[in-house]
Amino acid sequence: MTTAARAAALSARAAQPQADAIALENRHGAHNYHPLPVVLTRGKGVYLFDEDGRRYLDMMSAYSAVSFGHSHPELVAALTDQAGKLAITSRAFHTDRLGPFLELLCRMTGMDRALPMNSGAEAVETAIKAARKWAYKVKGVPEGQAHIIAAQGNFAGRTTTIVGFSTEAQYRDGFGPFAPGFSTVPFGDADALEAAITPNTAAFIVEPIQGEAGIVVPPAGYLKKVREICTKHNVLMICDEVQTGLGRTGRILACDHEGIRPDGLTLGKALGGGLLPVSAFLAREDVMAQFTPGDHGSTFGGNPLSAAVGEAALKLLEREQLARRAHDQGEYLMAQLGKLHHPAITDIRGKGLLVGVEIDPKFASARAVCEGLMAEGILSKDTHGTVVRFAPPLVIEREQIDFAVAAVQRVLKALESKAKVRETETV
Ligand SMILES: *Cc1c(COP(=O)(O)O)cnc(C)c1O
Repeated sequence: MTTAARAAALSARAAQPQADAIALENRHGAHNYHPLPVVLTRGKGVYLFDEDGRRYLDMMSAYSAVSFGHSHPELVAALTDQAGKLAITSRAFHTDRLGPFLELLCRMTGMDRALPMNSGAEAVETAIKAARKWAYKVKGVPEGQAHIIAAQGNFAGRTTTIVGFSTEAQYRDGFGPFAPGFSTVPFGDADALEAAITPNTAAFIVEPIQGEAGIVVPPAGYLKKVREICTKHNVLMICDEVQTGLGRTGRILACDHEGIRPDGLTLGKALGGGLLPVSAFLAREDVMAQFTPGDHGSTFGGNPLSAAVGEAALKLLEREQLARRAHDQGEYLMAQLGKLHHPAITDIRGKGLLVGVEIDPKFASARAVCEGLMAEGILSKDTHGTVVRFAPPLVIEREQIDFAVAAVQRVLKALESKAKVRETETV
């Protein structure tokens, strides 16, 4: 290539940087996601920046993983300090970081013990193994018969066992055969749970608010009733708080809203401070006691880098009272969205800063709303076609919420005229 040709190619490339990055991803990656057409290069607090330096308000927080905002200086310092000292050892040895992390995690959640993993799915897999072994060794369920109940609409990750109890056709399609030993009951229906329990039931696994199902909040008192039923039938209550945990819904755990303590708990997402994948399964003493050396593990689980970042994230959560903040800002966000009184909004629901806005599909798809928001400098993602998710970093300010709500109003207005055009076209 001549110098001139190269310069021309380079300048064409500079003019098309986003298209290039997207094209490369499309050409070489698996197409298991359908991202919005934006290429992000930087994040700071509640903001993300694309290749052209354009700023976006992050109203999604990587599915609630970035509760503290992007690149929080204190967490970045914890990460880089620890990375320079000792990052990965495996659990073949002790490190000075794991104990303090687990101690704080147990204290803040009120659980007896914690087992660190990396992804949320791994934490849920750990919960399943613990529940089954507890059923055989403590409850006396005959070998191979342990039964676990999940809620319809659940989302617990993407492993083959986990998608096996999903009720979402696409998550399962083509991935069977699935592990036996699971059944599902309607979410929010405590009587259905009680009816489904058999002498072989080891556990009921449930999200206090279903995130991926579209921010589905169960009736008040549901978790309390589930707690009573599980205790009565000697069934473990396992709460999957990978998404709802660590302040997101306005309390440290979403379970705290109903004053209940589960027997098993999964955490992930925000536990890594928005910097690393860090997850954990937590449980009461006799459940965690089922794990003996060699039963279960993970090369990276509990590594000193993750432990240092996880501990720093928990300290920040506590010191900055981010749960309280999520509560206050969440109330404000929902109130402001409610004030729009737009006919296309058929429901606004959630707790704390986990909010779902249901869009009437006759008006527009949630995806179209998200694309409109992107043009307005707001990033969010639709879930289940009709719900726009608003789950910003917990450090978001009121003025930023105002900016987002005003953008929602403008986007709905713009879509209104499109909807009208469509109407006249079809007439
Ligand atoms: C995201 C999520 C998971 C899975 O977490 P990964 O880190 O993606 O494996 C599990 N449970 C719930 C409730 C989640 O929202």
